[in-house]
Amino acid sequence: MVDKSYDIAIIGGGIIGLATAMELSESYPDKKIVVLEKESGVAKHQTGHNSGVIHAGIYYAPGSQKANFCSTGGKLLREFCDKHGIEYDMCGKLIVASDENEIPGLEELYRRGTENGAEGLRIVEKDEMHEIEPHVAGVKAIFSPNTGIIDYQKVSIAYAAELSENGGDLLTNCELRSISKKDDDIYMETNLGTIKTTFLINCAGLQADKVAKLMGVETGIRIVPFRGEYFSIIPERSDLVNGLIYPVPNPNLPFLGVHFTKRMNGSVEAGPNAVFALAREGYKKTSFNIKDTLGTLSFLGFWRMSAKYWKVGVNEQYRSLVKGVFVKSLQKLVPDVTSKDLAEPGAGVRAQAINKKGELLQDFSIVETDNAIHVLSAPSPGATSSLTISKYLADMANKSFSLAK
Ligand SMILES: Cc1cc2nc3c(=O)[nH]c(=O)nc-3n(C[C@H](O)[C@H](O)[C@H](O)COP(=O)(O)OP(=O)(O)OC[C@H]3O[C@@H](n4cnc5c(N)ncnc54)[C@H](O)[C@@H]3O)c2cc1C
Repeated sequence: MVDKSYDIAIIGGGIIGLATAMELSESYPDKKIVVLEKESGVAKHQTGHNSGVIHAGIYYAPGSQKANFCSTGGKLLREFCDKHGIEYDMCGKLIVASDENEIPGLEELYRRGTENGAEGLRIVEKDEMHEIEPHVAGVKAIFSPNTGIIDYQKVSIAYAAELSENGGDLLTNCELRSISKKDDDIYMETNLGTIKTTFLINCAGLQADKVAKLMGVETGIRIVPFRGEYFSIIPERSDLVNGLIYPVPNPNLPFLGVHFTKRMNGSVEAGPNAVFALAREGYKKTSFNIKDTLGTLSFLGFWRMSAKYWKVGVNEQYRSLVKGVFVKSLQKLVPDVTSKDLAEPGAGVRAQAINKKGELLQDFSIVETDNAIHVLSAPSPGATSSLTISKYLADMANKSFSLAK
């Protein structure tokens, strides 16, 4: 029995699914739009466990979708927040070269950031570095005044409210379990019954490859979960950090290296690392999901990736298990931090897309199929760029689904 019928169904109530639903509901008010979210509320996975940074667009290869999305994403996000009374803090960020060997990498970042249009970037020498962050160590840094912090859960709730105001539906506690197609319609079997839609947009984050598979789409990509573990700095020591302090990252990896992040509630987080996780939605070291683990281990691309990066993987696991090693990485940036300053470990899980060759996808991956669009990979700066990604997806949907007819 068909309980409900829609023109467009979006799978996933994370920041990208909600932004896309909001955009479509504004641009196509005559279309019936629904978001299906399996959790009891929005932004319960990557969006609600991320670092809360409004990125300025420094790291990304010029011309990549990351660079293009981020170049206007932060500005649109701030405009939205100004209009909806959501607080953010443009506290600025230092990317620090710890020694002379890291200066070429730092200069390359400066070149990329400038080409990507990141505003106000400048190279700062030691004196200015210490004026900005008195406790930082290093030989040179990039200062990005256009980097800030925000609570992306609040942003997601505001997107959901706009969707509802525009007449769209958000169904929480609604898990998509299987899909069948009949004529031009898609029938989605959920725990709340069958829901019919003409078009589908898959924004399922950590589950995006599985949702694509439910539609019979073989993407050649597998989501491999990487847990990013961090510690909070105890409140008495949070004055060690004023804003955001990052290292020069390894350009071959899609991770930024352990860093210090000020949060909107005034706390400071240190981390995250990146360790292979045994559950896509498991936030503890002990989290284990047999299906997720077997799914990863049976994918040839995972073994090819492991052969390439096993050394990095072993180091990250070691840093995860031994707090002293984690602290040492942090001391490279802020020598005064000690193990006693770290409390309350937490974690986020990153949906890292890997292809059959074992390559870690660094950029967004969005594919169109009959009646559907699949966002297979939406890495950082996905939250910063949610309003540019949503416009991109709405344009794609308009062309692909002929919405304007
Ligand atoms: C540790 C970490 C730190 C990050 N830091 C930043 C940062 O500082 N700044 C930044 O811009 N970006 C950051 N990112 C990236 C950013 O968080 C992501 O790009 C963004 O959250 C992706 O949003 P999403 O909606 O695609 O996925 P998600 O937020 O994961 O949402 C997907 C949703 O789909 C739902 N779902 C899945 N399967 C089903 C199903 N079958 N039925 C119904 N619902 C389903 C899930 O429950 C989930 O709510 C970070 C990411 C991580 C992991």
